[in-house]
Amino acid sequence: MRIEMSRAILTAGLCVSAGSFLAAAVTADDISSRARKLHFSSIVIDTHDDTTQRFLDANFDIGLRSPSGSIDIPRMREGGLGAIFFSIWIPSKVTGPEAVNRAMAQIEAVREQVRKHPKDLILATTAAEIREARKNRKIAALMGVEGGHMINSDLDVVRKFASLGVQYMTLTHTGNVEWADSATAKAVHNGLTDFGKDVIREMNRLGMMVDISHVSDKTFYDALEVSKAPLIASHSSCRALCDAARNMTDQMMKDLAAKGGVIQINYHVGFLSQEFRNAEKAHPEWEQAIAAEIKQRCGDNEACLLIEGDHVTREYVAQGKLPRVDWTKIIEHIDHAVKVVGAEHVGLGSDFDGANMPYGMEDATRLPHITEALLQKGYSESDIKKILGENTLRLMAEVERVSHELNQRPRE
Ligand SMILES: [Zn+2]
Repeated sequence: MRIEMSRAILTAGLCVSAGSFLAAAVTADDISSRARKLHFSSIVIDTHDDTTQRFLDANFDIGLRSPSGSIDIPRMREGGLGAIFFSIWIPSKVTGPEAVNRAMAQIEAVREQVRKHPKDLILATTAAEIREARKNRKIAALMGVEGGHMINSDLDVVRKFASLGVQYMTLTHTGNVEWADSATAKAVHNGLTDFGKDVIREMNRLGMMVDISHVSDKTFYDALEVSKAPLIASHSSCRALCDAARNMTDQMMKDLAAKGGVIQINYHVGFLSQEFRNAEKAHPEWEQAIAAEIKQRCGDNEACLLIEGDHVTREYVAQGKLPRVDWTKIIEHIDHAVKVVGAEHVGLGSDFDGANMPYGMEDATRLPHITEALLQKGYSESDIKKILGENTLRLMAEVERVSHELNQRPRE
């Protein structure tokens, strides 16, 4: 999510002391054999990870267990993560050809990681390819472009992204784009412009999922009306539990689900916990201080900024300034969403490596705890499999079906 920028900054990492202590306190032994069996026999999909920024750092190797951040191959294996959507992201303020070029560089960086690790990773662009990857014991790597500013208002760029394997595009990030309003900027388009609607139609034709995380409520409803395929919220949580403008209201979730869409719950503490959000709002000076501290540690290195944000935020939690948010908040959001729209329309979109993770969900190794918690809540094994990944696979297959259908019609 690369949070609301200044706050992306306000992210969190593994407070080396507190974080690892807690991780040790709740060990893998807490996972029952039933949960373990269910989890590791499911296709677990995470539809939003910001690890891509790290690929631009020559010192980072996704094949090695990293002491920082949340994602690498050993930890994905340990947590049973079967498919991961790497986010292609640059700040909203970067526009024009530079935005396109930087997006292309990140797409290439993801593809290069796949080339370097052929035994563990394989690029996937369809639901069937994710299932195939699973059969071959590989982790499916997918890509989502996070922000329509990276197309430079040009449908040719959308087509290029699709041809390079990009599976979804988030219409906006934290700022408006020339054709769509964001949830976290003052509305200037009243949702989608006519060109914005053309973008949706072209994405439908290309078989790219339309991602409505980050967009304004009106943009969401415009996209819902125009799109011939169901929509995805790749990393959004429930506004009823945490009043962030980029979380979804119960009514939005119902309308999304009525057209076959899925909300993938975001783990960022500022989107999970109202208490955390209130504390941040009450002390805007902390946000500035955290931003300054991170900047001092990282300069302009985006990957460092994202990961150190998590570290520094946890230092504030350790000092008692910001409230501690536990991973069970993720379960509260999943459970709320399931109560509102049913288990067929809920999934996981962590925001790992781009946001402040709650205690106990520091990295991908922690994912089996979600399965354990849902079993303890009385969820059926089949509902849990849907939440872990089957809903995303169904949505992708439907987006592919709509694309095939549209391509068989004469162009309008
Ligand atoms: Zn985001």
